[in-house]
Amino acid sequence: MTSAAAKHIAVYGKGGIGKSTTTSNISAALAEAGHRVIQIGCDPKSDSTTILRGGNELPTVLDTLREHAKVKLEDISTVGYRGVLCIEAGGPVPGVGCAGRGITAAVELLQELRLFEEYRPDYVLYDVLGDVVCGGFAVPIRDGLAQRAYVVSSSDFMAIFAANNLFKAVAKYAPSGGARLGGVIANGLIAPYARSLVDDFVARTGTRVVGYVPRSLVVSQSELYGKTVIEASPDCDQAAVYRALAREIVENEEVAIPRPLSGPELKAWAREWGDRVFAEELGMVGQMAVI
Ligand code: ADP
Ligand code: MG
Repeated sequence: MTSAAAKHIAVYGKGGIGKSTTTSNISAALAEAGHRVIQIGCDPKSDSTTILRGGNELPTVLDTLREHAKVKLEDISTVGYRGVLCIEAGGPVPGVGCAGRGITAAVELLQELRLFEEYRPDYVLYDVLGDVVCGGFAVPIRDGLAQRAYVVSSSDFMAIFAANNLFKAVAKYAPSGGARLGGVIANGLIAPYARSLVDDFVARTGTRVVGYVPRSLVVSQSELYGKTVIEASPDCDQAAVYRALAREIVENEEVAIPRPLSGPELKAWAREWGDRVFAEELGMVGQMAVI
């Protein structure tokens, strides 16, 4: 189903956590390093690839399928920064239909068009909404389409909750040919306790953090310019962070079948952290006062 050489990678995470920003910067960094890249937005929001294509118009696969009997690759893709091929699966008409089914329809069309055989990418990145509770969103990791799944998370409980849900889906499908977990991309950690909390969560679930992406004003500024950080500020520290993350993903052989926490375990773990948060913060203040 997938072209022999291509590495297919799915990036999950709760809405607004930074999936599209992070994925687009990884795509840009991979393209900059000379790889052929396709990024497929699998979020009904359809804004996954915006900063790779300077905000240029791109009809979604689902809209195009609704309007035309015959769809060509040119109708549903556009070439973005450094040749990254951008595709947006799109979503159902608001209030009607199932968003997850949109991903299935989009993936089927791309296979029908023999996209991977014709375009011969080195990397295909799927940017997927985190609600894997719906089967449609599990499509990229379920049927051998993607070999690796990553999850973007902050230290917020809802982000961790979504990550734990992804772990459940990976643990369920990995034994029957589904994707393995590459790891967690920790995005925008600010509070001193945040890193300890995320580190503890990955330790408890048998996973690991593949990169810490700091919260940065350059990300906001680049977004306002309609660009990735790699394109807008190639020499800044944040661009180096995204390049390191892309390298880590290229070289990452260390994959895992995660051990998700059960509902009660996650609740107990969160409570424990509720008790620790102030202690961790005060500990930092204490250390700083000594310095
Ligand atoms: P998602 O795709 O998960 O819904 P986005 O990638 O669209 O989330 O990010 C949501 C918002 O957060 C965007 O405005 C984006 O610029 C901002 N953002 C994401 N990561 C960072 C970061 N590391 N530093 C600053 N802003 C960020
Ligand atoms: Mg997004």
